[in-house]
Amino acid sequence: MYIVLLGPPGAGKGTQASLISEEMGLSHISSGDIFRENLKNETPLGLEAKGYMDRGELVPDDLTIAMVKDRLSKPDCQKGALLDGFPRTPAQAAALSATLEEMGKSVALVPYISVPEQELIERLSGRWTSQTGRVYHVKYNPPKVAGRCDVDGSPLYQREDDKPETVKNRIKVYLQQTTPLIDYYKEQGLLVEIDGTKSIEEVGKDLLAVIEKVQQ
Ligand code: ADP
Ligand code: AMP
Repeated sequence: MYIVLLGPPGAGKGTQASLISEEMGLSHISSGDIFRENLKNETPLGLEAKGYMDRGELVPDDLTIAMVKDRLSKPDCQKGALLDGFPRTPAQAAALSATLEEMGKSVALVPYISVPEQELIERLSGRWTSQTGRVYHVKYNPPKVAGRCDVDGSPLYQREDDKPETVKNRIKVYLQQTTPLIDYYKEQGLLVEIDGTKSIEEVGKDLLAVIEKVQQ
């Protein structure tokens, strides 16, 4: 089953994708995490993506599509995957459909996690991330030990692009380039809106309920 988690930056896509992928044994594909991993390892892709990420802009479609296509070709993605942060443009959505079609598969469901803009800024300014991509929040999801990941105890860090100025640009970019996907998936009958203002636990329950409905 291929699920696309849609929503603005800070909606809770990564948080929910970690929980659901564990619960359902699905591979979690986060395009942002893959870019950050490439950046850390100073690969040509990471170095190319850096400027766009620092400015809160989207990395060009050709690079992003090739990267996700490669990830989807791996053995652990043959039975399904949870996509978080991809697609973000109509061209990426079309490329995803074409890639899955080549594999004889298709997108089964697109939960759209909606959260108002003011809340996104508070969430992103309080976000702390682990090297493995787990996310915490100083107020809404604090780690058990301050500054340390609950799972492996590694130090948490604040993302450079979570600074208020960059966050504002990321939200602007989302509104301009990604919101057309809401109608795109609505027209395909795949979109289900989820109220992302509820607690992390409640959003998780709502998401699992819509996924189970599609599985039946
Ligand atoms: P995204 O992947 O959509 O950018 P994240 O999952 O990283 O969003 O969440 C952004 C921040 O908001 C994190 O600090 C996370 O702990 C927090 N968060 C996620 N979901 C909720 C929620 N339902 N209520 C309050 N805070 C949340
Ligand atoms: P995220 O971790 O999803 O918040 O993404 C962090 C940054 O990585 C974004 O601001 C973009 O610069 C880049 N990025 C992640 N996913 C994509 C995508 N699908 N298309 C283009 N750029 C992306």
